[in-house]
Amino acid sequence: MSKYEAVIGLEVHIQVRTETKMFCSCPNKYGEPPNTLVCPVCMGYPGVLPTPNKEAIMRTVAAGVMCSCQIAEFSKFDRKSYFYPDMPKNYQISQYDLPFCTNGRIHIYGKGFSGKDMADKYIGLTRIHLEEDVAKLTHFANCSGVDYNRAGVPLMECVSEPDMRTADEAYAYLTALKQIMQYAGISDCDMEKGQMRCDVNVSIRLPGAEFGTKIEIKNLNSFRSIHRSLEYEIWRQEKVLEAGGKLTQETRGWNDDSGETYLMRSKENAHDYRYFPEPDLMPVTLTKEQIEEIRLKLPELPEATRDRFVRDYDLTPYDAHVLTLEKTVSEYFDKGAKLVKTPKIMANWIISELLRELAKSETSISECRITPEKLAGLVKLIEDNTISGKIAKDVFVEMFNLGKDARTVVDEKGLVQVTDSSAIDAFVTQAIEMNPAQVEQYRSGKTMVLQFFVGQVMKLSKGKANPQLVVELLKSKLDS
Ligand code: ADP
Ligand code: ZN
Ligand code: MG
Repeated sequence: MSKYEAVIGLEVHIQVRTETKMFCSCPNKYGEPPNTLVCPVCMGYPGVLPTPNKEAIMRTVAAGVMCSCQIAEFSKFDRKSYFYPDMPKNYQISQYDLPFCTNGRIHIYGKGFSGKDMADKYIGLTRIHLEEDVAKLTHFANCSGVDYNRAGVPLMECVSEPDMRTADEAYAYLTALKQIMQYAGISDCDMEKGQMRCDVNVSIRLPGAEFGTKIEIKNLNSFRSIHRSLEYEIWRQEKVLEAGGKLTQETRGWNDDSGETYLMRSKENAHDYRYFPEPDLMPVTLTKEQIEEIRLKLPELPEATRDRFVRDYDLTPYDAHVLTLEKTVSEYFDKGAKLVKTPKIMANWIISELLRELAKSETSISECRITPEKLAGLVKLIEDNTISGKIAKDVFVEMFNLGKDARTVVDEKGLVQVTDSSAIDAFVTQAIEMNPAQVEQYRSGKTMVLQFFVGQVMKLSKGKANPQLVVELLKSKLDS
């Protein structure tokens, strides 16, 4: 155990899903050829005027409501000045002192990424403000390319309080934030498409002491690398202090291959952004009614869905957590669970079979050939003992690959479970006659061999005998 405690705060940029960019009518779209989604406004030509995107503002407010923020009834945009090729105007329209959302919180709970239990706690959300994204730079061997398709895409910045204490908590916070954005349709948060980007701030201190020197880590492109970089950086900072060294405020990069952070720049090169109110845009006013209208249209929080699954479908909190990580999965389960007697069985099939097969074949649940109705059909055949759980696995594979429904597969292959005790009785007698040595063992007290007999009978019945009946019949024969 280390005597130090880590202090972590995250700055997360999330692109807002909209039809068009923040201040012009260019499409907000990913994956088009470079510099094809541009116009004089997002290219920063002289004399053009920005027009704010209402949809982006409404979605940012929705994000704030989902995170229990206070929503500003009076808000404005500001200019943040800096010189860099990713910003043709040489300033970015952002929000400085009056962001749309402040003072929110995000609940984290359950097991951490590393498998350890985490404290159930709320992480404060300092603010969510809205700004325009900047161009994407690509560096080649002897030149760099600029793609302005991304310049002007609506971008939220979500700043957390320094409330996290472990890499696991940071991971959980990011997972929860992404989940909330996806549930409310605010963003897909696909990190590979740059829709979610995260800067990490981390310091260490002795418990109870004042905050230590903050170090920022950049170039993080997955939740996993964020977790790894934090564990590394906490370890590195401890090593420096333990050796009697001092930490200085700096920005470090993350090298995913070596698993180490490296110095990018120190505090001396910090920017002065010379913020001032954007003169080309009116302040934004929102009435209590407008905010209320947004609130009423919002879906259930992922956390509430999880609790409802535990309550209504009798799931463990962990299973409910896995089923609510993705909204599409939770909707799938919700639909299927309503059609069966034992939602718990439905949950098990999704978690242990369906999600695994989907991951293996790299398909999403919405493209899956087994619809919730079809999976419910399979669960019903298990519930009424038409097929055993073991046979159901074979049926499932056929359903997954060919899109057939469970009943059809079972009929075509003659897989109906044998529940007729006289038929099973014949297999039981056969198994006992064929294995006198094991009968001897059983009768001398090694009742463990019962499992061996169950296996033999299942084999003889080609897996179709009802396992409970098999056990009953075997016991009555062997014990007599
Ligand atoms: P800056 O002025 O450098 O931008 P802020 O106070 O605005 O710093 O904080 C930026 C982020 O860093 C926030 O997410 C905040 O929670 C986090 N943070 C602030 N101080 C610390 C600290 N001592 N250790 C870790 N994170 C911190
Ligand atoms: Zn444009
Ligand atoms: Mg700051």
